Amino acid sequence: NISPDLPQIRQLDDAAINRIAAGEVVERPASAVKELVENALDANARRIEVAYADGGKTLIRVTDDGHGIAAEQLPLALSRHATSKIDGSDLLDIHSFGFRGEALPSLGAVGRLTIRSRAGAEGAQIAVAGGLTQPVKPTALSQGTVVELRDLFYATPARLKFLRSDRAETQAITDVVKRLAMAEPFVGFTLRDVSGGGEGRVTFRADPESGDLFDALHGRLARILGNDFADNSLKIDAEREGFHLTGYAALPTYSRGSALAQYLFVNGRPVRDKLLYGALRGAYADFLSRDRHPAAALFIDCDPHLVDVNVHPAKSEVRFREPGLVRGLIVSALRHALADAGHRASTTVAG
Ligand code: ADP
Ligand code: MG
Repeated sequence: NISPDLPQIRQLDDAAINRIAAGEVVERPASAVKELVENALDANARRIEVAYADGGKTLIRVTDDGHGIAAEQLPLALSRHATSKIDGSDLLDIHSFGFRGEALPSLGAVGRLTIRSRAGAEGAQIAVAGGLTQPVKPTALSQGTVVELRDLFYATPARLKFLRSDRAETQAITDVVKRLAMAEPFVGFTLRDVSGGGEGRVTFRADPESGDLFDALHGRLARILGNDFADNSLKIDAEREGFHLTGYAALPTYSRGSALAQYLFVNGRPVRDKLLYGALRGAYADFLSRDRHPAAALFIDCDPHLVDVNVHPAKSEVRFREPGLVRGLIVSALRHALADAGHRASTTVAG
């Protein structure tokens, strides 16, 4: 006989499961913005607008002109582990930002979420709040998707208490948008503070860049990091055994007192990775004193099988199949570019 004192195992309901998952995926307003902007990029949007109020705590709205979601698929977009991006047969073959099918259901579990989308002739919308989903209904909309998240964490007061000031949360949102904007120079981004209602005010804007990849990237980096960075940085373009390294790295004379201006991307994904930061430091070791930090925006691209982005739901960590190779590529490409620039500078002076 089973003792009445024995703990009972019960299946959690969907709302609870989604709230637990949300704890992993949505730490603060900026994480919601990241998920929504990545979804817009995955939908091949050419223009993306992010509006927020009160540091994103009361409202986050991401509008894109991407391929949209068909009305009959809207409920699926809100169900857990439902995604259009992978079929699950090869978790290392990932070409999109998303693949877990967790962001929208998670956001719907911790805020009031409305998705309006138009993929064909007519738009439709679906809304979810507190785990309760409203039926799909038609709505007037131009091509693309508008995802609106109100009152983030209203259902989880413990999380709400951990949020920082509106100013700090706004800063984090801005940082997320700028990082993604660096990796997507051909896409236009607008950031708008709509606290207090109305049109609000644009706090950041980057129009779509044109030209070849390096032109576009250079223009976008000038926009985000400033003309000073763009004018004082070296073009990096190197390849080794399937790994491509591109981007711009600052001259040693443009170094910073902190490592804040180091932007690293793997297959288009902004990452904060110890190995990559270490490689950057190593490359400049002969050119900078220890208390100075190089500014750089570097992009590593490789076959998705050579890197695991599946390490953490927030996905800012990656694991390379051959870390030594990546480190060597970065160190040697940057050293060459720096030595070359130094050589050019000294011959200019001499000549
Ligand atoms: P994932 O991005 O991991 O697939 P999400 O929960 O973020 O999971 O989104 C679920 C699905 O909803 C996506 O796979 C995609 O098909 C659709 N979707 C979400 N946002 C957009 C968008 N902005 N435009 C078009 N489709 C979208
Ligand atoms: Mg997603």
